[in-house]
Amino acid sequence: MTSNTLNEIEIIKSSTSKIDSVDFQNLTFGNVFTDHMLVCDYKNGQWEKPVIKPYAPFLMEPSAKVFHYGQAIFEGMKAYKDKNDDIWLFRPDQNFERFNKSATRMAMPEVPEFVFMEGLKQLINLEKDWVQKGLGNSLYLRPFMIATGPGVIAAPSQQYRFMIILSPAKSYYSGEVKVIIAEHFSRAANGGIGAAKAAGNYSAQFYPTKLANEKGFQQIIWTDDATHTKLEEAGTMNVFFRINDTLYTAPTSERILDGVTRKSVIDIAKRDNLNIEVRSVLVDELVEAAKNGSLKEIFGAGTAAVISPISGFSYKEEYFELPKLENSFAMHIKQTLTNIQNKLAEDTFGWTVKI
Ligand SMILES: *Cc1c(COP(=O)(O)O)cnc(C)c1O
Repeated sequence: MTSNTLNEIEIIKSSTSKIDSVDFQNLTFGNVFTDHMLVCDYKNGQWEKPVIKPYAPFLMEPSAKVFHYGQAIFEGMKAYKDKNDDIWLFRPDQNFERFNKSATRMAMPEVPEFVFMEGLKQLINLEKDWVQKGLGNSLYLRPFMIATGPGVIAAPSQQYRFMIILSPAKSYYSGEVKVIIAEHFSRAANGGIGAAKAAGNYSAQFYPTKLANEKGFQQIIWTDDATHTKLEEAGTMNVFFRINDTLYTAPTSERILDGVTRKSVIDIAKRDNLNIEVRSVLVDELVEAAKNGSLKEIFGAGTAAVISPISGFSYKEEYFELPKLENSFAMHIKQTLTNIQNKLAEDTFGWTVKI
């Protein structure tokens, strides 16, 4: 059944719910999924009718292009429940836009706004009991698209599947995060796919990150691939540096993911009269600042952990510990942002969207 107008979502409800078996106080990130998922297939040059159905495994051709050539993209978003039981999304338009930019870069079809937005809304509505109230609780939303078309010829697939799955999340204290500055490995290169939220960017990071883990570091600060002199991202997050009282973050580029958290941090910093400069920070500058004591903070910014303070970094086998601050920019920004997301502070930016 093909729907060219795409103005309807079929809902097949699960006869049971696993919600009573979930320990919401002890969730590890991304391990538990709700009762339903959204599925929308692309065939013969068009999107078929989206269906919300019970969360379950599904069959695929062993020759499906995603397994061989990695045509796979995703988004990461969160839904929050306020004290009146209303559910809110945070800047979903930004994720929708970025999803289709990623699709274009990976030679995949764009997903219609109805399928992405209405799909999210109807799915979350059906699963609203899974969104827990209270600061730190959220429902993590994972829209993604894979190439399902069969055949091992190296060419873009003719068939795709767009899906949304949902996972209850609790804010976590990630423990101490120490990072290594990349001297050899790269996350992304000019002309590559670093600005797309493509699955392959993540698999490319696993091995260098494993090596860092073995040395006792949790993450890598990625540098530009050509010279390894410019600081670009921290793990799978955008990265900010505070030197004296100025906050710095690199401009987005072909190598840097245009993070929604990153741009929200920039806007909050501007509104709250913190000095912020969007420019590349050099590795040498960071080492110098660490040596002369002007380096105050480094933190990552991304949807999953929101703000992730970094306690120290290593470069060329030398380790630099960051000071422990009472009034850090990271904490101010994290509190401000999570209060907006959870409707505990006025959203002067118009970022929150009610479901
Ligand atoms: C997803 C992602 C981010 C963070 O983006 P948000 O929109 O803030 O979640 C940063 N860097 C990379 C490489 C990412 O994949």
